[in-house]
Amino acid sequence: MSKLEALAADIATGAVQIVDLTHTLDPDFPVIILPPEFGQCARFRMEEVSAYDHRGPAWKWHNISMSEHTGTHFDAPSHWISGRDVPNGSVDEIPVDAFVGPAVVIDCSEGASQDADFELTPDVINKWEAEHGEIPADSWVLMRTDWSKRSGEAYLNMHEDGPHSPGPTPEGIRFLIDERNIRGFGTETVGTDAGQGSHYTPPYPAHYFLHGAGKYGLQCLANLDQLPATGAVLLAAPLKIKNGTGSPLRVLAMVTK
Ligand code: MN
Repeated sequence: MSKLEALAADIATGAVQIVDLTHTLDPDFPVIILPPEFGQCARFRMEEVSAYDHRGPAWKWHNISMSEHTGTHFDAPSHWISGRDVPNGSVDEIPVDAFVGPAVVIDCSEGASQDADFELTPDVINKWEAEHGEIPADSWVLMRTDWSKRSGEAYLNMHEDGPHSPGPTPEGIRFLIDERNIRGFGTETVGTDAGQGSHYTPPYPAHYFLHGAGKYGLQCLANLDQLPATGAVLLAAPLKIKNGTGSPLRVLAMVTK
């Protein structure tokens, strides 16, 4: 049996399980809110074209619209000014090998339950590596916070001084890029940066450093509590949008039982 035939057989028997890391596209799912002087991200919208009726007697379908950055979505290097000149930096140009690869999960759920502004620092990463080993190069690093279990206003957690949600410090994200050469970074929150990420230097350090280095982002992930710390393989292929800076997508993880 070839390796791929063995994999297919393991999926069929459940020895390899497929975990859905995706939220449902829904008009009520929150999108990031920027200060009012900036353009805004559109929520998911669906309009019925026909439903087995006079508009189309034997078929039902919808027209949909949304931002590239609505719901569970992928960030390409061209999303950020630091990545504007990265070769193959838009979703249609990224080599497809990048869409399948290993993932590690850093569990920050306990810290995030006590502090909405919990930070992923080099110290947190070093402690994780002491237990699980060094993060392999070219891995996705997923920051588990259990934030995906929140809904409504608690998800963005907007206060008078802006949103409060966990994320990496500039030093934390630079460690992952400079010392571990990761493929990308994924979160359960509305962005790869902390809610208060505009206050770091540089502002929004995950976006700035990841995309400047040609790395990718995933956000609004779900079910990270169903993944092992190491050993999962991620399937995360954005839509092939010409010059697209990101895309909603279905993110799946393969895990061994
Ligand atoms: Mn985005």
